[in-house]
Amino acid sequence: MERVVVVGGGVLGTMHAVAARRRGLDVVHVEREPEPRGASVRNFGLIWVSGRAPGPELSLALRARAGWEGLAADVPGLGFRAHGSLTLASSEAELQLLKEAAALPDAAVRGFELLDPAAARAVNPALRGEFAGALRCRRDAIVEPRLAQRALREHLLEGGSGYTWLPGREATEIAPHAVRDHTGAWHRGDLVVVCTGATHTGLAGPHLAGYPQPPVRRVRLQMLQTEPFDGRLTTAVADGDSLRYYPAFDLPGRHRLPPQEPAAASVRAQLLLVQRLDGSLTIGDTHSCDEPFAFDVDEDAYDHLRGRAEALLGTALPRTQRRWAGVYSQVTGTELYHRSQIAPGVILVTGPGGRGMTCAPAIAEETFA
Ligand SMILES: Cc1cc2nc3c(=O)[nH]c(=O)nc-3n(C[C@H](O)[C@H](O)[C@H](O)COP(=O)(O)OP(=O)(O)OC[C@H]3O[C@@H](n4cnc5c(N)ncnc54)[C@H](O)[C@@H]3O)c2cc1C
Repeated sequence: MERVVVVGGGVLGTMHAVAARRRGLDVVHVEREPEPRGASVRNFGLIWVSGRAPGPELSLALRARAGWEGLAADVPGLGFRAHGSLTLASSEAELQLLKEAAALPDAAVRGFELLDPAAARAVNPALRGEFAGALRCRRDAIVEPRLAQRALREHLLEGGSGYTWLPGREATEIAPHAVRDHTGAWHRGDLVVVCTGATHTGLAGPHLAGYPQPPVRRVRLQMLQTEPFDGRLTTAVADGDSLRYYPAFDLPGRHRLPPQEPAAASVRAQLLLVQRLDGSLTIGDTHSCDEPFAFDVDEDAYDHLRGRAEALLGTALPRTQRRWAGVYSQVTGTELYHRSQIAPGVILVTGPGGRGMTCAPAIAEETFA
């Protein structure tokens, strides 16, 4: 193999370009937008190991985290920080579940440690609000989603003539070992990797319209970013609602949690909070699978998320500077992501769901392995 064509400039496409260049392959990288605008620039930048299911999912996430860390040594623009996370319990029931998680056989691999409130504040002094205890995960990390893809592309471009970035080109047709963009130009390679994210129509459409159930679905999330916060968060933070969603916490204690607060339940909210390099706070999220998705963002969800963050930080948040929604592609079956051959020499990789930013480096390595 000598030449690879990658379609899609999100984190999956970009990590495939990185993996191909690492093997000395020439890469042509096609993206329909002038700059990627998909899930990869809209996310938290959480490299999230803590919530992964034991077994293959945890293993994929750990390999990917090592991949991010390794890349960060060469690409400081990723903003990689091995800050870990604190998941905060607000009730006795949530605390019991954290205790079960801290006793898991793979707790040490995840870097889990149960902390009382004083110990949690010693780790992250910005947490001046009320909570019953915390689960620390030392393996969780942070990157800067708005900067990471561009930083990786610049790194590849610095590496010489083997990488060609073609933004503003929408791929419209597939043929064996080739893809055509909307200008009519064909791009040929020994391998074409299609990473078109949550665009489940277009090129990928015929291959994702499974019967009786398509292999992927779309999920929409609401997010916000504040103005710079007057304080430093030394970890990422999650609230107890996150225990309801992540598979690692599918333990007996989850079934003893009381019903979720209506304001959170109505939008399937969990609080995740990450401080950006400029001091601002990225806060989310909500989850909706009901299409057609709203084209506008809902303020009730933001009231809830800001209220949760203020309760845990014990202080008022800065003004909201930005609001947005993002959509990711998620497999509907038990696999960790979707990979299929859609023509000779053409493979489609999508559907990693809420673990896509975390797992992208390892997913790309698996394609070439
Ligand atoms: C709000 C939000 C928060 C999240 N938080 C996290 C997190 O903190 N940690 C985590 O691990 N995961 C997170 N995720 C999930 C993660 O962001 C996604 O799984 C991941 O970004 C998917 O990457 P992708 O490259 O497949 O898709 P995308 O980033 O959407 O990229 C697809 C690209 O393909 C391009 N494209 C589409 N069709 C064509 C075509 N025909 N021709 C050329 N280009 C095309 C698009 O323009 C786009 O740039 C989050 C997702 C969202 C939405």
